[in-house]
Amino acid sequence: MKVRTRFAPSPTGFIHLGNIRSALYPWAFARSQGGDFILRIEDTDLERSTQAAVDVILESMQWLGLDADEGPIYQMQRMDRYRAVIEQMKSAGLVYPCYMSVAELDALRERQMLNKEKPRYDGTWRPEPGKTLPAVPEGVQPVYRFRNPIGGVVAWDDKVKGRIEIGNDELDDLVIARPDGTPTYNFCVVVDDIDMAITHVIRGDDHVNNTPRQINIFRALGKEPPVYAHLPTVLNEAGEKMSKRHGAKAVTWYRDAGYLPDAMVNYLARLGWSHGDDEIFSREQFLQWFDLDHLGRSAAQFDEAKLRWVNSQHMKRTADEALALLVEPLLLARGIKPDARLAAICGLFKDRCETTVMLAEWARKFYAVPERNAEDAAKHLTEHVWPAIGMLAKMLEGSPWTREAINESIKETLRATGLKMPQLAMPVRVLVMGTAQTPSLDAVLALCTREQVLDRLKIG
Ligand code: GLU
Repeated sequence: MKVRTRFAPSPTGFIHLGNIRSALYPWAFARSQGGDFILRIEDTDLERSTQAAVDVILESMQWLGLDADEGPIYQMQRMDRYRAVIEQMKSAGLVYPCYMSVAELDALRERQMLNKEKPRYDGTWRPEPGKTLPAVPEGVQPVYRFRNPIGGVVAWDDKVKGRIEIGNDELDDLVIARPDGTPTYNFCVVVDDIDMAITHVIRGDDHVNNTPRQINIFRALGKEPPVYAHLPTVLNEAGEKMSKRHGAKAVTWYRDAGYLPDAMVNYLARLGWSHGDDEIFSREQFLQWFDLDHLGRSAAQFDEAKLRWVNSQHMKRTADEALALLVEPLLLARGIKPDARLAAICGLFKDRCETTVMLAEWARKFYAVPERNAEDAAKHLTEHVWPAIGMLAKMLEGSPWTREAINESIKETLRATGLKMPQLAMPVRVLVMGTAQTPSLDAVLALCTREQVLDRLKIG
């Protein structure tokens, strides 16, 4: 049987890292099993769903390379299908009309609370052999309720939580169609999971309570439910459930902040799943290793410092040319048109950058005169080095433009002036790069053009 998984986000608010992890795992499972991954947009909450939220979902998935084989499929476009299944369930006697008014339901709930019972629908309108139903009130459109089985348990072997058993008597008869005929949430999910032939449902554990209800609807429709894996919550750094209200950022924020998609996949993969002690791995390794047997059971906690570390590790491992492709648009957006030097610039600086945005900040200094760090300037640009800098500039004027030749000129200047390397290198760095903290001076100068260096070494 072909594995088929899905990501079924509700397009309300924006999608954060905790949400997108629920896309990563089903995607990875489908990919690792040669299966299909389906994107379904659960947009039936008309008041809260927005196109802007859909766009952020699609952009986030595209950025992370979580490509869907089918979809996006919008639930709002499947209303006819849900209505057809409701009709089918009516004729099969799987649902029944309930005319209980909101006021009656409220009164029922209050009575139950008073008796310290769990509030639940009491089956007033559920037809049973030999039972007389109340008289149908006039002019009232009924809801349709699902005839939940009575007695027994609903059980499943959750891939994360182990065996879960819920007594059917805990579950009351769920409304599956509202008075205007629109279908309700749990029902739509089941119809979709059946129609889309989903074999594995991997989702957040905020849906665990829905699962027994959904399983009963599956069985009533003559289908076996899929395998379930309910992922523990992702907590923010303060230990609260990650949410927009608690300061979570949209996934696209990390794209714009210069994180690498493979690093983000790596980081999110580890946020609730493990492969031994492996912390840094490629997308290919992840897909080779991913399984449902090593999902973590406890809530994972987001750690921004660790994410930055993971990103810096991936920066180091990324080919210079690939980094240049990512840095180029950042420079263009800053009004700078890079040239063929960019890959080598990325190569020289990638070890010291946590993000591509930081890398772009370095690269920019090779195209536009950098701002000078005032503290570094005050410390290193002292008059007594002017002659040495003048001498170096003179030598660089006639030197071949290679790292080795530039290094020769630096050394010769040191010999002639009696200065130590830092006494010359620091002020030159400040003049050329605006800061005293740079990689090896000869390498930095070799990546500038001769004109740039001579121009920036002009003292005055
Ligand atoms: N739409 C639900 C959510 O965003 C997910 C439903 C599911 O995965 O079954 O939480």
